[in-house]
Order: sequence, then structure tokens, then C-alpha cells
Amino acid sequence: MDILWSPWRSKYIQSFKDEKKDGESPDKCIFCEALHAEGQEKEMLIVSKEDKCFVILNKFPYNGGHIMVAPNKHISNLEELEDDVVFALIKTIKKSIKVMEHISKPHGFNIGMNQGRVAGAGIPGHLHFHIVPRWNGDTSFMPVISDTKVVSQSLEETQQILAKTFIELF
Ligand SMILES: [Zn+2]
Repeated sequence: MDILWSPWRSKYIQSFKDEKKDGESPDKCIFCEALHAEGQEKEMLIVSKEDKCFVILNKFPYNGGHIMVAPNKHISNLEELEDDVVFALIKTIKKSIKVMEHISKPHGFNIGMNQGRVAGAGIPGHLHFHIVPRWNGDTSFMPVISDTKVVSQSLEETQQILAKTFIELF
């Protein structure tokens, strides 16, 4: 989640080209690791496991309740996803919004994905949608997407509340 147009970053981007990229293979992917760690949902910050996708809290949130929705399959590009998985992802984003509205009544959401390292994807190997709840006056949009800010509620506490509400509502 970096700013969209910053030509001075080209050196930084170039430096990734020869490196082994994070999350390039399923055995080095934090999403696959979290999804397949049976019985460790709490430690892995898993909020909900659905049929074709799952919901996980972001360890480095841009705002309280920043979650990500990712397909169960290790896949990097949206165009490679089967239609039923696309449907499942959007449906799960919708459920996540309902869960957050139930818990903390955000005034709005930033929802989006970055495809490819150059576009700002931190884990380019496993595509994922970000859902960032927003409240009036929390901060302006740019600080939210360009830097980590201090979030008062602990991640463990947030995981528990979200996971519990997912079960209650669906
Ligand atoms: Zn993966």
C-alpha cells in the first residue's frame, strides 16, 4: 500500500528483481502457513475459514480492525482465479463488513488489492484484499495507506472479537 506515483522509488523496485520474492511459493507464504496451521487460529490471527477463502487480521494494521481476505489456493493474479472463488471472496468481504459494522460501526471502509510487487503488494505470491475500517476524523487517507500507525486495541483481542462475531452472525 504505497503511494501510486513515485518515480524515485524505481531503484527500490528494481532491487526486487533479482531477489527471491516473499510468498513466491506456498511453503514460504505467510497466508498458506496461517491457513494450514490447524488449531492455531488465534496465534495466526485467523478470523474465519470459509469454503474457498479465509479472513485474517493484518499484523501491521493501518487502522484498528484491518483485515485481509484471501483465497485458500496460493495464487497471485486475479485473472487466474476461478469465478466461483471470485464470488466467494466478494461474498466474504461483504460478511466481513457486516461483522465490523456490528462490532464497531465504522463510517466507511477502504477495500482494495495490490497486484504485484510494483503495485505495492507485500506478499505478491498470494493475492489478498485489504479491508480497512474508517471512522470520521481517524486520519486522512494518505497516512492510512502509506504508513503504519499505532492501533490501541491489541491484535489478539481484535481477533477474538471478530472471530466470535463471525460465528454469531453467519
Ligand atoms: Zn500462499
